[in-house]
Amino acid sequence: QWIYLNGEYVTKQDAVVSVYDHGFLYGDGVFEGIRVYSGNIFKLDEHLDRLYDSAKSIMLNIPYTKEEFQNIIVETVRKNQLETAYIRVVVSRGPGDLGLDPNKCSEPRIVVIAEALALFPKELYERGVRLASVASRRNRADVLPPQVKSLNYLNNILVKMEANQAGVDEALMLNDQGYVTEGSADNVFIVKKGVIKTPPVYLGALEGITRNTIIELAKNLGYEMREEPFTRHDVYVADEVFLTGTAAEVIAVNEVDSRVINNRKPGKVTNHLLSEFRKLTTEDGVK
Ligand code: PLP
Repeated sequence: QWIYLNGEYVTKQDAVVSVYDHGFLYGDGVFEGIRVYSGNIFKLDEHLDRLYDSAKSIMLNIPYTKEEFQNIIVETVRKNQLETAYIRVVVSRGPGDLGLDPNKCSEPRIVVIAEALALFPKELYERGVRLASVASRRNRADVLPPQVKSLNYLNNILVKMEANQAGVDEALMLNDQGYVTEGSADNVFIVKKGVIKTPPVYLGALEGITRNTIIELAKNLGYEMREEPFTRHDVYVADEVFLTGTAAEVIAVNEVDSRVINNRKPGKVTNHLLSEFRKLTTEDGVK
């Protein structure tokens, strides 16, 4: 396996960064997770746009043009001879001293890892997942914008731990006003009387690329699709609930805080969107 690390392709063993890297010391950096379907790097442009936006927001200068970065990602996939893969792109502030000041960091560290993907088991798509709402709140959009896909994922890790403690598959995260925001690593959708809803990102959610793809797809398929705030109650009484994300794709939710959704079966709209989404995965991207 070849890993891209600052201009070189190195083995897994040699892919190491300094303990003084502020990505390690402080979670100072940004990242992306991207999938490759049958040789097609799905939505690569969108992932690169989000990476550069995240970096700009935290004033981290990526020393490559998007085109150069794209070539590095394509080359990493090619070098590892992968047709179906998961790619992790990391840009950290780089090594500095023990203080916080990013001005003391020499230059960003850039890592691209491409691995054969461990797919979610097929049964999970047939069975769906269980959710529990958690006490930890999504950090406020005016403090550390959830739109920034930063290396500081403690908020998400804490809610994942709460979900584990509750014995369910995933967390339902609310914001400080009690509106539903997202899961620990996926966006959330509900369907009620044929209308599909997902929270606006300003409530405190990452602007998921799968989310945006599903919004567009739903509109193109003629569904009424709304980005609007909703509460836990709306989730409990929804006809269907599903999650979207690079890893999960589109996955049905069968239970939320012990309220059963759609008799524990993935609903018609969820299945329709999943099958249409899968058709897109080999088309929209970079070959
Ligand atoms: N929300 C969070 C917090 C995430 O980390 C992710 C995963 O990347 C998502 C949502 C889903 O986003 P995407 O569809 O771009 O993978």
